[in-house]
Amino acid sequence: MARYTGPVCRLCRVEQKKLMLKGDRCKSDKCPINRKRPAPGKDPKSRAGKRSDYGIQLREKQKLKRIYGMQEKQFSLFFERALRMTGITGENLFVLLERRLDNVVYRLRLATSRSQARQVVLHGHVAVNGRRVNVPSYLIKPEDEISIVESSRSLVIFKDALKEYGRSGVMPWLQLDPDTLKGKFLAAPRRSDITDLADIKEQMIVELYSK
Ligand code: SF4
Repeated sequence: MARYTGPVCRLCRVEQKKLMLKGDRCKSDKCPINRKRPAPGKDPKSRAGKRSDYGIQLREKQKLKRIYGMQEKQFSLFFERALRMTGITGENLFVLLERRLDNVVYRLRLATSRSQARQVVLHGHVAVNGRRVNVPSYLIKPEDEISIVESSRSLVIFKDALKEYGRSGVMPWLQLDPDTLKGKFLAAPRRSDITDLADIKEQMIVELYSK
């Protein structure tokens, strides 16, 4: 399926949830969810009451897929990998998603959104353990060092993105030196550590793919 190129805020309005796809705008009064704009389409309220189990499971999967900016094929490959791992599949899926390089760049506050982080990686601005990596889905391991390559460190996008580091720091499984733009992935998070996505019901996604 082709990558979605329409207005990204519409995706949040469909889910009636902030998927945080547009960086700083998501925290501002301009966010349509903050302004309580309804879901797109005719009479969304009447539709909401009629969702089947399948419909609810599908929406949960779409939310998670869109938050991490993935396409269906890649998301289902991540799910298959989570299924093969020992432990709870839904939690494994979260751990794999969190290990994606574009996500780690975003979580380290080196980009204001996951889509910007994806561009930063694709354009070759990021190195893992000193080697340039331009694959957004590259999986980071515990103790890996993630850095901005020297020639890109003065770019204004990193200065802008780091303002969020000043406000909120980084998640507890990460570490960043804002002066050198070098970060570390200390350990894979547990599901309970991913507090900003606590409301996602991953068990529904497991049920969806088990049909
Ligand atoms: Fe979603 Fe951000 Fe747009 Fe708000 S501003 S609707 S959170 S993408």
